[in-house]
Amino acid sequence: MVVAPSGAGKSSLVNALLAQDSAISLSISCTTRDPRPGEVHNQHYRFIDKEAFLALRDANQLLEWAEVHGNFYGTPRDHVEDCIQNGRDVLLEIDWQGARQIKRHFPDAIGIFILPPSLEALEARLRNRGQDSSQVITKRLLAAGGEMAHVVECQYVIINQEFSIALSQLAQIVTASRLRYASQVARHAELFSQLGISVSNV
Ligand code: 5GP
Repeated sequence: MVVAPSGAGKSSLVNALLAQDSAISLSISCTTRDPRPGEVHNQHYRFIDKEAFLALRDANQLLEWAEVHGNFYGTPRDHVEDCIQNGRDVLLEIDWQGARQIKRHFPDAIGIFILPPSLEALEARLRNRGQDSSQVITKRLLAAGGEMAHVVECQYVIINQEFSIALSQLAQIVTASRLRYASQVARHAELFSQLGISVSNV
């Protein structure tokens, strides 16, 4: 899970990671927010209305959901469960409320929090991307402090000062997560067995 306040550069980092690592599958969230210029339905989000969102939620089709900046966001259950069953890495770009719910379902899920290098940089990024109205930007800036207080709930923290360094740190965390004992046992069950290693307690 990658968590960050708006303007920390999370989406750019995630997109660059996905471009260089085809083994990671991105979870496409549902949202009731309007598309920004250039955003594509089913690629950036599944843009749906509030009624459709609540119907999905009530039908237990969302693994987690939250209200963020006045809109609903949620992670479709099917795709994530499918990835987990097939041993595929799945990446969720969500807020801290969603990350907390996912941790409850999947205690092994890894939380990575992206911080901006300064409040000024955060504000500049929000204004420069020119995709939101100044009212929305002010709302998001005011919320950022509260969101960043939840950094403590993530295992990893990346400070996105230099994009290439932050990207390489993100890739290193992915590599480290793949080398965890449980992941290695799942990927190399045959080797563990050939080496006579008992994995019954995984
Ligand atoms: P934005 O409107 O800027 O795309 O996203 C606003 C916030 O909602 C971001 O913090 C983003 O990570 C979060 N978000 C996006 N998708 C989901 C989701 O499926 N669940 C939750 N809980 N938050 C999400």
